[in-house]
Amino acid sequence: MSASSPDRARPDACPGAIAVHQAADGGLARIRVPGGTLTNAQFRTVFEASSALGDGGLELTSRANLQIRGLGPSAPLELADRLWRAGLLPSLSHERVRNIIASPLGDDQHLVDAIDAALCAAGDLAGLPGRFLVTIGADVAGLNGDIGLVGAALLLAGTDTGIRVADPVAAVVTAARRFLAIRGDAWRLAEVPDGVARVIEAVGVPGAERISVPPPEPLLPGPYGDVSVVGAPLGRLTAAQAEALGSFPWLRLTPWRSVVVPGRPSLDGTGLITSPASPWNGVTACTGRPGCAKSLADVRADAAEWVGTRKDTLPVHWSGCERRCGRPAGAVDMIATGEGYRRVE
Ligand code: SF4
Repeated sequence: MSASSPDRARPDACPGAIAVHQAADGGLARIRVPGGTLTNAQFRTVFEASSALGDGGLELTSRANLQIRGLGPSAPLELADRLWRAGLLPSLSHERVRNIIASPLGDDQHLVDAIDAALCAAGDLAGLPGRFLVTIGADVAGLNGDIGLVGAALLLAGTDTGIRVADPVAAVVTAARRFLAIRGDAWRLAEVPDGVARVIEAVGVPGAERISVPPPEPLLPGPYGDVSVVGAPLGRLTAAQAEALGSFPWLRLTPWRSVVVPGRPSLDGTGLITSPASPWNGVTACTGRPGCAKSLADVRADAAEWVGTRKDTLPVHWSGCERRCGRPAGAVDMIATGEGYRRVE
């Protein structure tokens, strides 16, 4: 075990679409969507699967993926079949390693698809941890991917290496292979002693002036040119909200638990977040009750009640226990105590 890593006696437990996690409210499936882009048919497949097999809602994750909760014991097989038919499960062996986030307003889906195909074609890379992450684009580089691309610049563990790559797909595969070879029991490159330097040796020669990587700025809901960003309160779509989003020809998931859709649609009355001035912006919550057995409160219900009285715009994260799962950097904490909440600035 590396000195900086937590207990790694067990494999990482990131859920997948097949490797369903058993939560307190039933099975939890995480469906990887590399680059976040879904066709109308694919999105409908997922939310119809949630209606038929899960609790009907959809969770948007901080890695621009989708989650279905409340799956029964026999549901995962049926879910996998539906996803495979929709092209959302191209590799059974690699489903948990297809973690690629691209700029939500960018135009890199073709590159995402090429990297995804190359990762899935490399049999050995099925052994990557489920937490392994590739980012593509400047505005998501600050999410600290194990590997990042900003144009031709190659980033490792969130920092520019000074290497400029002519073939980004080959560079990602080479870097991923090197990480796999040296990772020991680490789940992320930043946890490997001298990990960045050891991957650089395999990928190329740093020669370019380093670019700085700014902290990621969440994309607020609202119109952006000919598309709009739409948020979901606390990152969870109800069945009715998913149905409303299912009317668009395509949509793209963002790492800020929102969705990019074409045009400037009116979604009044849906409860979706469409304005940068919404009090829901910047409010996040862990799963809480009833989905997490460790939770001391129904944090989502409590956070929703609090939003109506909100007086400031500080980012606030609500947690059902001290673990503070999903807490974004820089957020004020509201931590359940069993008798209320403890606020930590
Ligand atoms: S912060 Fe605690 S209560 Fe919330 S999801 Fe994590 S373990 Fe569960």
